[in-house]
Amino acid sequence: MLQPPHSSLQVAAVPAQRGPARDQDAPWHTEAVCRRDEAGLFFAPSKEPTAARLSREEAAKRVCARCPVMVECREHALLQPEPYGVWGGLTAAERRVVLARRRRRDMELKKAARPARIAQAG
Ligand code: SF4
Repeated sequence: MLQPPHSSLQVAAVPAQRGPARDQDAPWHTEAVCRRDEAGLFFAPSKEPTAARLSREEAAKRVCARCPVMVECREHALLQPEPYGVWGGLTAAERRVVLARRRRRDMELKKAARPARIAQAG
C-alpha cells in the first residue's frame, strides 16, 4: 500500500501497513494538495460519530476537488485497493461501489464476447 500524501495526517483507524518507499515517489504524489492541507480530514479517528465522519469526509472531498492529481490518486486507491480513508474524492465505501461496478461490467463484457468466440470456432 502506498503511503498516502496525507499520511502524515493519519490517525488511529489506519493500519500500520506501509508500501515500498519507491511508491512514495510516484509522480502524482508530489502534486497532492493534501500534503499541505488541513490535518485529520482524510482518515477517521477511532470511534468517530457518524455525523462527524460525514462532515469530515465532505471536507476532505472539497480538498480533493481542487487537487490536480485527483484522477491518479483515485485510480491508485482503486487498484491497490486502499481500504481506508478518502482518496481521490471517494470514501472507502464509495470505492467499493466503483470496484463492484467495474467487476460487474468486466463480467458482462466477458459474457458478451463468449458467443462471438463460440461462433468463430464453429
Ligand atoms: S485527490 Fe485528495 S487524497 Fe488524493 S492526493 Fe489529492 S487531495 Fe490527497
